[in-house]
Amino acid sequence: MPSLELSLNDLNAPQREAVTHSGSPLLIIAGAGSGKTRVLTYRIAHLLEQRGVRPGEILAITFTNKAAAEMKQRVEGLLSSRAANAMWVMTFHSACVRILRREGGRLGYPSSFTIYDSADSKRLMQLVCKEMDLDPKRFPPKSFSAQVSNLKNELVDYDTFGENAQTEQEKKLAEAYTLYQRRLHEAGAMDFDDLIMLTVNLLEMFPDVAEYYRRRFRHVLVDEYQDTNHAQYRLVRLLVGGGRDADPDAFPPPELCVVGDADQSIYAFRGATIRNILEFEADYPEARTILLEQNYRSTQNILNAANAVIQRNPDRREKKLWSDQGIGPKITGYVADNEHDEAAFVVGEIDKLHDEGEFTPSQVAVFYRTNAQSRVFEDVFIRTGLPYKIVGGVRFYERREIRDILAYLRVLANPEDTVSLRRILNVPKRGIGDRAEESIELFAARERISFAQALRRAQDAPGIATRSLKAIREFTALLEELEELAPSSTPSEVIEAVLQRTGYLSELANSKDIQDESRVENLEEFVDVAREFENTFSGPLYGGEEEDGEAALGAEPAEGAGGTAGDADAAAESAETEGEAAEPAEPTLVDFLEQIALVADTDQIPDADDTGGVVTLMTLHSAKGLEFPVVFLTGMEDGVFPHMRTLGEKAELEEERRLAYVGITRARQRLYISRSAVRSAWGTPSYNPASRFLDEVPKDLVEWRRAESAIAPSRPKFAAQSRKPSSRPTREVPTLEVGDKVTHDSFGMGTVQLVDGVGDRTKARIDFGADIGEKDFLVKFAPIEKL
Ligand code: ATP
Ligand code: MG
Repeated sequence: MPSLELSLNDLNAPQREAVTHSGSPLLIIAGAGSGKTRVLTYRIAHLLEQRGVRPGEILAITFTNKAAAEMKQRVEGLLSSRAANAMWVMTFHSACVRILRREGGRLGYPSSFTIYDSADSKRLMQLVCKEMDLDPKRFPPKSFSAQVSNLKNELVDYDTFGENAQTEQEKKLAEAYTLYQRRLHEAGAMDFDDLIMLTVNLLEMFPDVAEYYRRRFRHVLVDEYQDTNHAQYRLVRLLVGGGRDADPDAFPPPELCVVGDADQSIYAFRGATIRNILEFEADYPEARTILLEQNYRSTQNILNAANAVIQRNPDRREKKLWSDQGIGPKITGYVADNEHDEAAFVVGEIDKLHDEGEFTPSQVAVFYRTNAQSRVFEDVFIRTGLPYKIVGGVRFYERREIRDILAYLRVLANPEDTVSLRRILNVPKRGIGDRAEESIELFAARERISFAQALRRAQDAPGIATRSLKAIREFTALLEELEELAPSSTPSEVIEAVLQRTGYLSELANSKDIQDESRVENLEEFVDVAREFENTFSGPLYGGEEEDGEAALGAEPAEGAGGTAGDADAAAESAETEGEAAEPAEPTLVDFLEQIALVADTDQIPDADDTGGVVTLMTLHSAKGLEFPVVFLTGMEDGVFPHMRTLGEKAELEEERRLAYVGITRARQRLYISRSAVRSAWGTPSYNPASRFLDEVPKDLVEWRRAESAIAPSRPKFAAQSRKPSSRPTREVPTLEVGDKVTHDSFGMGTVQLVDGVGDRTKARIDFGADIGEKDFLVKFAPIEKL
């Protein structure tokens, strides 16, 4: 049985102080790998074990769901007995969903509101702009979406924005924002930003709700505090009260503990602001600040590189970060001829590390700046049979067929969900065309009813052809049939029913298109996802709920608030008492949809020790908070990283540098940095100079495996003319013909299948046999030799 007394010995003095501090807000500000997250975890365990805090009194906010699950598990590992299930360890979004499910009724939302992800909300904005008859060139819906999101992160509502709108652009935006918000509300839906903003509104408008949560959460802890945006910041203030504008008569405010590192603030583009961390002390004058200076993650060489890079940023608090993990090997540098060569180098190195028994692939992560860079790595990984996991871009859930079925499920869970309903109106094709859809839309507007209601009254709508009318009737009957079946079925059963009864599956199955075959496989996988969810389900929204019966709001609806939509829930919840295991709840469709909506990209990272051999590929942004024994930092080129868009902007360049700092400090033992002399952009080679961040790493820390490419121009313009006509110093560009045998550095022997183009632009398709298959190359840059 682990004892916490013993565990406290796993901490250094300032860490221990942070874990045991009580009585005032606490800010822990420290560099990467200094144990901030560890302190939060131990602090929670300490609260439960030593200070008699009940699990239900703890709210701990993490940046991703994965981080939440990990933290919860670690806390449980530190405890001697009590199950920590009633703790709220989750992301801001998940916590807000929970609050809104209970209290959203006060804002006029159903407790089963739908959550729109960014694709849904973009689609809704498109519909709104179309409804407003806006010229998409002058008023691009995508840009409107982004601006509305920014406004919400800043807690600017449409009325306030509208009052201050000056230019035509602003006025139209205000109008679109208003209409967009109305449509969301009518559909009983919230977008991601709403989750935070509406919770803030709720707590501001209903002091009794705010007070309820303040009484409930006696301890609020926030990880990665430097990346909170204004709305999240406000939310924390509301949840803990106290601070500069505290009500002196209020009961003692909850204890707040936030941890962060201003040098790792990398979400300014999403409204995150390091102001929150820098001004914490001003906001909470009684706060205590603790600095951590020992890094437990990386070797000194890696740390020195990170420190040297971040030091170039002005206006930062200098931190002295040191490590006793030893100097460690030097950083390995590599200059590749092109991106394929770079990927081949990475794969070769991973193989070598594995063969030599130093590291398994699961201990390795490959980082890049933008999602698009992953494809080349994927290519090479697949061809060499090195298993990998890619994180970034919700790939699976973005596939058309998955989105279609999800839309069905959402309509079943919430029939008023207009965006989803319109997506599936004619999917699979059933003869409800654009004209009919428009007529329904007009009818809905005229009658001031929702699209769903208009659809059910289609016979009253003018201008719908008899054939379409029949199709609509069949469609609504189908939905009713599915709606009836849904409450008594598991999510996977509902999915199967949708696939069968809508004809979606048979349409794909009968198709000759090879892509449709893989769509069927994806849908199969989706049913598996639902099954997996059912098997691991432990109660609504990430585990059991604990309530203080006497304080439950549902028991005493505020006057004039019209009761809470969550009354029934609240009553059911208050019946549960701590320690008593509640009946395991049946997973509902709403639970399932929620889980999917909230699964962030980073959640797909496998656990290093249970996969036994999967390399993790991800963007630098998703790497935050993680650590890996071996890290490859790729694409270190000006124009790639730092990103082209940021080159002329001082503030943005500083944010890129923080991203570099995050990247370097993920590495525990081995760090590789690589760049490519040539990288194709829009199908033509572009020559990028070395990243300025490479120059900022002290020379003596890096051992260059290959310091220059054969074709690498030191200055692009000059070199473009003078580069040697081969991709390797010793090799001529081979003249290839169909049938020629070649060898490729990474793929081995192959046979030329096709040759296309002339001179530098000659492309060849080469077959490397059953395992690797065919691959296309720009001959000039491919590491191939004719045999
Ligand atoms: P980041 O800024 O990247 O989020 P962090 O400050 O949250 O980093 P942690 O992830 O908590 O750092 O810790 C980094 C590593 O060091 C972890 O593997 C952690 O277990 C280990 N560690 C932290 N403190 C100690 C300690 N006192 N003794 C041993 N290991 C420690
Ligand atoms: Mg951390």
